[in-house]
Amino acid sequence: MPEGDSVYRVAAHLHEALAGQALTSADLRVPAHATADLTGRRVLEVAPRGKHLLTRFEGGLTLHTHLRMDGRWEVYRPGERWTGGPDRQIRAVLGTDRGTAVGYRLPVVELLRTADERRIVGHLGPDLLGPDWDPVEAVRRLLARPGRPVVEALLDQRNLAGIGNVYANELCFVAGVTPWTEVGELPHPDRLVERARQMLEANKLRPGHITTGDTRPGYQHWVYGRAGRPCPRCVTPVVAGRQGAPPRDRAVFWCPYCQRGPAPDVTTARPGRGGAGRPPGR
Ligand SMILES: [Zn+2]
Repeated sequence: MPEGDSVYRVAAHLHEALAGQALTSADLRVPAHATADLTGRRVLEVAPRGKHLLTRFEGGLTLHTHLRMDGRWEVYRPGERWTGGPDRQIRAVLGTDRGTAVGYRLPVVELLRTADERRIVGHLGPDLLGPDWDPVEAVRRLLARPGRPVVEALLDQRNLAGIGNVYANELCFVAGVTPWTEVGELPHPDRLVERARQMLEANKLRPGHITTGDTRPGYQHWVYGRAGRPCPRCVTPVVAGRQGAPPRDRAVFWCPYCQRGPAPDVTTARPGRGGAGRPPGR
């Protein structure tokens, strides 16, 4: 699942390539819109909203796309070879004189009236990278169901829009709580929400979802993807597990020393790993 900063970057890239240009070709390869003809329309803008991409055309039309797990948009110069995947994976093509945007493996390709966008994105919480970012409202929504595990509440796009699993795990670490901690137990939800915004803001123009400030490979995250490796803060081995009920469960990572709260028994969760105990003196 892409994080909001990745979607922001895709939108910026598409906007730069398409905005202000008239479409010289347009092809939506989904049954509902296969006959839609957008040729000749000017692209007004490409805007991210949480993890949704909204490409707006003159005449009051919007193309809504979502990348989900492995969708992507690529932009090619005239004559350049398309390399994003086999032809059968192409879901949308938007061509202008300057270049062509090709959407691969997009699970959502939907043409709607711009006036109806609320139907698509109206349920979303405050957008961490949006012009209308509202931290007070984000906290209010997060705490509306205080018994939910923090990681789950952070991932719920109705609370705040833009957080994927990398940031959800990293935010639990910086808050010093395990992913299973009830969101109502967070010591400073306002600070957590602010950290979330800072993380996405810092990464919206670069790849990697870097949360530690260290861009070296292997040092970019506190706990995410670092099972068995030392916690950067206390050197206790980071632990991996699953949170939630299948099939909607997710990978979680945490430091059993730095993060307080409920968690599966570390020694039984990772048999044979060992070394996950607390450092001496605590
Ligand atoms: Zn630690």
